[in-house]
Amino acid sequence: MAMKMSKISACDVADCSYNRNKECHALAITVGGPEVCACCDTYVHAAKKGGVADTIGGVGACKVDSCTFNTNLECSAPGIKVGLHQGHPDCTTFKTR
Ligand code: SF4
Repeated sequence: MAMKMSKISACDVADCSYNRNKECHALAITVGGPEVCACCDTYVHAAKKGGVADTIGGVGACKVDSCTFNTNLECSAPGIKVGLHQGHPDCTTFKTR
């Protein structure tokens, strides 16, 4: 069966260019980056708004293999939430295997 892209149900990171009213409008984000956390690697702070206004973002890829929802470096959670953790945006749906 084809895998469905996990949607971002809410994002509290208001200063991200892709964020409008706690919704992510990037077509697809990447989770996981240089930090040890499940950070949102797509976050960007810029004067210009990014993304597509009538689209809710999904998880295009997740590099956090230690998460129980991770299957072959893709997210299989029905949806994720993103929030601030220690000053950077993290996937708060992350759950250790
Ligand atoms: S999920 Fe990431 S890219 Fe989307 S609004 Fe939040 S911080 Fe920005």
